[in-house]
Amino acid sequence: MQNTDVNLSNAKNTFKNTKAITEQQVLIAGGGHVGLSFALLLAHHGIASTLLEKNSYPTISPNDDSNRSHYLDSRNTALSRRTVQIYQEIGLWDELQSHACRIDAVQISEQGSFGRAQLNKAEERVESFGQVMENAWLGRKLLLAAQQEPLITLIDNANVIAVTQQADGVTLSFNYYGEEEHEQQLQASVLVACDGRDSTVRQLLNIGTTTYDYEQTAIVGVVETDKAHEHVAIERFSPAGPLAVLPLTDPDGDGNDDYQNGYRRSVVWVCPKGEENKYLADDAHFLATLQQAFGERAGKFVAAGRRGAYPLTRVLADKQVEGRCVIMGNAAHTLHPVAGQGFNLCMRDAHVLAQMMSAQVLKGEDIGNTQLLKRYEKARLSDQKRVIRFCDAVVHGFTHPNPAIKLARNVALVAFDKLPNIKPLVANYAMGLKS
Ligand SMILES: Cc1cc2nc3c(=O)[nH]c(=O)nc-3n(C[C@H](O)[C@H](O)[C@H](O)COP(=O)(O)OP(=O)(O)OC[C@H]3O[C@@H](n4cnc5c(N)ncnc54)[C@H](O)[C@@H]3O)c2cc1C
Repeated sequence: MQNTDVNLSNAKNTFKNTKAITEQQVLIAGGGHVGLSFALLLAHHGIASTLLEKNSYPTISPNDDSNRSHYLDSRNTALSRRTVQIYQEIGLWDELQSHACRIDAVQISEQGSFGRAQLNKAEERVESFGQVMENAWLGRKLLLAAQQEPLITLIDNANVIAVTQQADGVTLSFNYYGEEEHEQQLQASVLVACDGRDSTVRQLLNIGTTTYDYEQTAIVGVVETDKAHEHVAIERFSPAGPLAVLPLTDPDGDGNDDYQNGYRRSVVWVCPKGEENKYLADDAHFLATLQQAFGERAGKFVAAGRRGAYPLTRVLADKQVEGRCVIMGNAAHTLHPVAGQGFNLCMRDAHVLAQMMSAQVLKGEDIGNTQLLKRYEKARLSDQKRVIRFCDAVVHGFTHPNPAIKLARNVALVAFDKLPNIKPLVANYAMGLKS
């Protein structure tokens, strides 16, 4: 095993950029959607970063328009309007939007109950409630943009194994599984850990977590219905848990170029832990179960694609800053996917931190300064707490079997549908515009 010390200021890719506005470097551990997005946000502000990803990235040709990516990820993400605004701000939305499907209306109801509510974009006077995109497409486009950005150095096959902090910097050690396996070190002003729910960096920094197991598994994938989705998202609460059917673009559909209108929908089906195999293995069973839960709202469920299973656990880091290190993305807060808030919250975090670092650079000050990072942590707490409370209220409120609580929540749904002024508040919140 070879041991190589690499100071970032000497690393081969450091000088490939000409527009960096600072000599200070940011290290990012974990190149999922949050790590890649954060690197792109920093680059937008002229800040260079080096991103280390444990897995191997594929070679992507800019002309290959397919949906394939290294993410064997059957998930789809509902991007809030705020997330769309952030991607617009960094000039990436033009690349993404061909595979983004608008949500024009949201229907909320409970299986076997009278309460229902509907949000319509015309009533709320918004362009849409958000956009749904396949993770494979999002991941592909983020990776391509990062590969093409001179201010970003991507190192894949790099598993972070140690972090040490000095007064003026942070040193990261990683095992590099290239042609020859060896250990390397990098130094920078600051380290941002976007290495997911089981974050290695968080553990290396001895940051604890508060964890809650929902005892549920989300089955996610794509289905086809015989009724066009007409841009309606359907949230349905069943005794098993909350379910969602979201509209998707139809790139392989009927041969015309109108990807927006079609019959493909994204499904998030939540079942008790341990019951996932029967929904994964058997298409007919999965389709029949969906039909029973959704009734005719979405039409007939006629075909099901590849599905993935995700055990649902809430993991909250006890703190998000330690010295020159920031914990971000799922590493900071992993949430229940019920309200489609997790990634959107991460994007707001990433946007704020990139802005604060940029302001610091413009003042000629240290971007890894602990006081700055603590100010970031404090600035983000109230939005994070609100989203966490919101997700939990939805999960627990709608799965409680007590008949009195069931009645109360159905009355609340009816009231929500009828009372003025409440819907715009909730709509703004769900769109990620209020934080
Ligand atoms: C079923 C489901 C549906 C969802 N739907 C939505 C939605 O509609 N809207 C929404 O806003 N959110 C949604 N979410 C949440 C969203 O998926 C997450 O918030 C988001 O994926 C978090 O991304 P991340 O980059 O922080 O973490 P991850 O995607 O876990 O990425 C972490 C990366 O770090 C790498 N890594 C790990 N350890 C190391 C190491 N030691 N060294 C180097 N690299 C390492 C990993 O390989 C990985 O690439 C959903 C979640 C689930 C489970």
